Amino acid sequence: MTLVTDVDLLVQNTSEVLTCAPAAPDRVGRIPGGAVAIRGDRIVATSAGDALRQRWPDAPALDARGGVVMPGFVDSHTHVIFGGNRVDEYLAKATGGDLAAVRAAGKPVGIVGTVVETRQASEADLVESALPRIEEMLRHGTTTVESKSGYGLTTADELKMLRAGRGLARRTPAEIVNTFLGAHAIPPDEPDSDRYVGEIVERMLPAVVEEDLAVFCDAYCEEGYFDIVQTRRILAAASAAGMKIKLHLDQYTHTGAAKYLPANTVSVDHLNYTTDRELADLAARGIVAVAMPGIDYMTAHPHPVDIPRLLAAGLDVALATDYCPGGPIASLPLIIGLAVRMHAMPVAEAVRAATLGGAKALAIEERVGSLEVGKQADLLVLDVDRYEEIPYLLGHNPVRTVIKRGRIVVGEDR
Ligand SMILES: [Zn+2]
Repeated sequence: MTLVTDVDLLVQNTSEVLTCAPAAPDRVGRIPGGAVAIRGDRIVATSAGDALRQRWPDAPALDARGGVVMPGFVDSHTHVIFGGNRVDEYLAKATGGDLAAVRAAGKPVGIVGTVVETRQASEADLVESALPRIEEMLRHGTTTVESKSGYGLTTADELKMLRAGRGLARRTPAEIVNTFLGAHAIPPDEPDSDRYVGEIVERMLPAVVEEDLAVFCDAYCEEGYFDIVQTRRILAAASAAGMKIKLHLDQYTHTGAAKYLPANTVSVDHLNYTTDRELADLAARGIVAVAMPGIDYMTAHPHPVDIPRLLAAGLDVALATDYCPGGPIASLPLIIGLAVRMHAMPVAEAVRAATLGGAKALAIEERVGSLEVGKQADLLVLDVDRYEEIPYLLGHNPVRTVIKRGRIVVGEDR
């Protein structure tokens, strides 16, 4: 029994509430006709039927008009801050065009192409260009966004990107979680990769820690990028400095890096070529698997991530957009649609993976990702009768209202 005597908002007249509570037997914690009571920035009650209205008859109401109420989406893997765009490269790759001609025309190609444009942008430029992207994500129900650096690749430019992430957070109701990804690519002007890794470990990481600019350290372990020895050196240094760890793992080749993750690894992301044995070991360690069907789609990946195999291994799965210059996908409802249709992911698992799963991948599941008493009031009202419609209405935006920390930030009731 809670001692709360009044509430600020009662979300009622729903078709169903999904709590996405960790122990929910149906994976989404469906409460038919449920209601949610909010006080300040917290959830103080969830219940079926009229119980909450009877208890707080005078509470201000948000009428869900028969829609679905669920936790805000948590997008746990994005590269949403960057200069320029790569539309010409994308179209050339998609339609069998001439990539050399795109380069010859001075258009950016690949990570290194975006590095050039990001270095040219000021911190303020990066905030201004990323803000509409974040707002688009928020309109699609994403209330928490992870944001990686990795297009600066010098100490000054990496710090600039992370500071832009902090600046972005002050401009939007969405919550931004910063990840340092100095090891995204070998810089175009530093061909000696070991020397660059030395720069990351000796200069960048201490500066990031000093300014407390990022929660996570990430690396791109892949052929032509950072090998296992280099990746281990970076992650060990970050780990020793108290940072949590993420890793781009096995996106285009099987690297074997799954065996060498430091103790405070929270998530491994992509997993296109990770073996069953490795997946089982990751599951045993409680490491979250971040699946990103959108980027596999945008790159026409020859070996898309096998989501049922991740689930069968017993992994906690998160679904993320991987919003990046190579595939600027803003919508987690769209990602749920791809996961269900292209990867045979059960819809309840997909919804859970885009909420609680994302929160686990950011190590903030005690605070967000599910609708439970005491948690932050980050929730959505969807214009659908039942949650199974999310993947079916592909390309629609089912989100009508977004509440972040107890405040309506998107929707007519704002
Ligand atoms: Zn990525």
